[in-house]
Amino acid sequence: MYDYTIIGAGIIGSMIARELSKFDLKVCVLEKENDVANVQTRANSAIVHSGHDPKHGTLKARLAVEGNDLYDALEKELHISLLRTGAFVCAKDEDEIIDMQKLYENAKLNGVEDMEFLSIDEAKKLEPNLNSNIKKVLSLPTTKVCFPWEVAFFALENAIKNGVELYRNTHVTNISYTNNHFKVETKSNKTYLSKHLINAAGVYSDQIAKMINPDISFEIKPRKGEYYVLDKSVKGYMNHVIYPMPSKKGKGVLITPQIHGNILLGPTSDWVEDKDDISTTEKGLAYIKNNIKDMAENVPYHLIIRQFAGVRSTSTYEDFYIQEDQKVKGFYHVAGIDSPGITAAPAIAKYLVNEVIHIDLPIKPDFNPILKKKIVYKDLSDDQKKKLHKEKPLYGRIICKCEDITEQEIIDAISGPLGSDTIKGIKKRARAGSGLCQGGYCESLVLRIIARETHKPLHEINYDQENTPILDQESKVGL
Ligand SMILES: Cc1cc2nc3c(=O)[nH]c(=O)nc-3n(C[C@H](O)[C@H](O)[C@H](O)COP(=O)(O)OP(=O)(O)OC[C@H]3O[C@@H](n4cnc5c(N)ncnc54)[C@H](O)[C@@H]3O)c2cc1C
Repeated sequence: MYDYTIIGAGIIGSMIARELSKFDLKVCVLEKENDVANVQTRANSAIVHSGHDPKHGTLKARLAVEGNDLYDALEKELHISLLRTGAFVCAKDEDEIIDMQKLYENAKLNGVEDMEFLSIDEAKKLEPNLNSNIKKVLSLPTTKVCFPWEVAFFALENAIKNGVELYRNTHVTNISYTNNHFKVETKSNKTYLSKHLINAAGVYSDQIAKMINPDISFEIKPRKGEYYVLDKSVKGYMNHVIYPMPSKKGKGVLITPQIHGNILLGPTSDWVEDKDDISTTEKGLAYIKNNIKDMAENVPYHLIIRQFAGVRSTSTYEDFYIQEDQKVKGFYHVAGIDSPGITAAPAIAKYLVNEVIHIDLPIKPDFNPILKKKIVYKDLSDDQKKKLHKEKPLYGRIICKCEDITEQEIIDAISGPLGSDTIKGIKKRARAGSGLCQGGYCESLVLRIIARETHKPLHEINYDQENTPILDQESKVGL
């Protein structure tokens, strides 16, 4: 019997797992996908917002500002990557200048620090590619950029090291409550018994809630965002996050520098019927280009290497829904976590544990908040590289030439409690295949390394989910 079962291993479930792992409790996380953070947490802008635009007084406003602050601790404890970019909000006419003043006042009430107004000439000294027609800029220096997949992954890895259990490929299909505990049933016919339940199922959080309380007072309305990805050679084109003025549709189409040097253009904001609709469309991509032109000049569209989309779990409640179920005690919903959910995630976990569940236990003596820093070969000095070649010679063999990823880093990504044996899993962990050629060169090599390390035939190695092999029959090519 578990004390707490968390449904969903996105950034929210992962942060909650880490927060609960501080205490002497038996905790598990159930995730329907074959990997952690595979849904909303994988496809977004990656911005740790300052907390400037959520309406003052909402949970979104409070937890965004607190979450932004907590990222500095995550950097020290989990060794997550963090870019301190700052951000510029751009007003393009007189009406927007009036709204910008209101935005500033709202941000100030929310507790956003160090903001200042800039003229376009002042802003262009820092960002020469801003559109000269912009009338006024609000600078938000506390804005940062993270790598959300890594944040969730490292938080969950730390939680696992502190005793949490993770079950992947575990799709929750039914929940019942009898004899003071929950019975959670799954597609794979496994059953989990738990004293408390935490619903962190993202776009499916309303369905999970309805499994036990059909009268739940929120619904998730999926809202899709599409993006272009520019190659990392674009680095330096824009160094701040560039926002237009927010509108009813949200923060708008942005220009966002990424941790690994790429720049994202997007997202769109469109209501969709299908919660799993991650298609990109001609209309959506045209909308991005049409909006970017108001903010930037000399946009290097020739460097587009990819496009993708993510679906926001926007709720009819219009704020984060972080509450104990009104009918079923011990059942906690952490739902409607759309933007700024990445930003707020560490604060959401603390808020749930301290102010909603009210856990009042001592921190266990062997809790270790620190996760050992991962080796990223290309970031090392020449001396460190030479030393490493002697200890583990496969650090000396580059497999992904675009991103300089070595064979040993791929082996490291396959092994461990959160390892993966799929091409996409390795791409997320080690970044092999993320560069200009998008795996055209290294994919077949990664395939062979996975087969060798897992002792499986090549045609059994999947690209991503089950039954997605790259090869459909045995290959004559040796390892
Ligand atoms: C286009 C876009 C841009 C965004 N930009 C930003 C940004 O720049 N900054 C920011 O702060 N926020 C941003 N967000 C919001 C942010 O991505 C989300 O708030 C955050 O990822 C939510 O995390 P989550 O863990 O709640 O959801 P998810 O990551 O979706 O995780 C939920 C998990 O539950 C699992 N699950 C669902 N049903 C079941 C079931 N039946 N059984 C078992 N498991 C189940 C899913 O597989 C999934 O892994 C953006 C979102 C989108 C879509």
